[in-house]
Amino acid sequence: VLLRADLNVPAENGTITDTTRIDRLKPTIDYLVKNGAKTMVISHYGRPKGVTPEFSQAFMLPALKQSWGVDVTFAEDCIGPKAEDAKNKLHAGQVVLLENVRFHPEEEKNDAGFARELAKLGDLFVNDAFGTAHRAHASNVGIASNLESAAGFLMEKEIKFIGGAVDEPVRPFVAILGGAKVSDKIGVIKHLLNKADKVLIGGGMAYTFMKAQGLEIGKSLLEADKVELAKELLESAGDKLILPIDAKMAHEFGNDVEITIAKNEEFPADQMALDIGPASVELFAKELEGAKTVVWNGPMGVFELSNFAQGTIGVCEAIAKLNDAVTIIGGGDSAAAAMQLGFADDFTHISTGGGASLEYLEGKELPGVASISDK
Ligand code: AMP
Repeated sequence: VLLRADLNVPAENGTITDTTRIDRLKPTIDYLVKNGAKTMVISHYGRPKGVTPEFSQAFMLPALKQSWGVDVTFAEDCIGPKAEDAKNKLHAGQVVLLENVRFHPEEEKNDAGFARELAKLGDLFVNDAFGTAHRAHASNVGIASNLESAAGFLMEKEIKFIGGAVDEPVRPFVAILGGAKVSDKIGVIKHLLNKADKVLIGGGMAYTFMKAQGLEIGKSLLEADKVELAKELLESAGDKLILPIDAKMAHEFGNDVEITIAKNEEFPADQMALDIGPASVELFAKELEGAKTVVWNGPMGVFELSNFAQGTIGVCEAIAKLNDAVTIIGGGDSAAAAMQLGFADDFTHISTGGGASLEYLEGKELPGVASISDK
């Protein structure tokens, strides 16, 4: 079985700093091992330009062994004689990790010949790499046209929770969007305004919306070229779109800075809003009460600084309190925030895909999902 995994894990000086992506693959590995498959794991790591030793995946072996509870060997290439040799040595129930598939430039070109070379190694293809599903590459899309393919358990979960929440939500359905820029999330805002009952907007992008309302936002993050769009969205959304009503402000980024709590109409001209304020947390918590489906993408403020994490913590707490609700974090920074702030267990599902979950939340079909024959 060729298993496409997403092992593009965060690492510093050769040490993996967050093993979530590895841990979440365990159900698929367990299934394959128990059923006697010979498993060859394909992944990419980082953005190497050709063969680049610092992007070798070999350093992951101890973490994989520890997380998956099986021995994992390594092959120094993902195609050709080294991969063939590793395959020939595999016994039922054993796992080998192949070297970074992006060492071959053909991978990102979805080259048909390269996809065939990969496919030659196995009888079946299992795609469990949701994090790459928004890309049409050889190891997730091309390969699937050469072999019978199925979704892995992590991929299945991502499709079920993110797709299910947006397309068939139990109502009330509340979406919370934050993060730095409106421009990164226009598609998501538009799509969720169509699908959700309420859309709460926090984070840096809220201030472009406030500017569109004619408010003075001081030195807060502004995308001047998105003010018109924000106006249109505000008009068409009516009371479905909820903005913060106060902010935690400062003269500069930092933890040792003086903080001002200001209502929307009273933003000091020389300060920037770095988090939603306490009244906004209360408002957002109230809007979340009784929600049965919650989708959250993007932090409410600069959560990396403890002084400006309260908004994001407040939203996490409000979501954690919900009864019988399906609560989903659509990957990226909000997933990191929830985990870093200690709320990882309070959500139904935290997506492992940043870009992929964002595109999924925009309602786009993901090539890595579309290419799987048995979903
Ligand atoms: P994104 O990747 O779009 O979800 O944005 C996440 C980033 O937005 C985080 O690094 C936050 O620190 C940043 N961010 C959130 N709120 C603000 C804000 N009010 N001003 C500046 N940056 C912010």
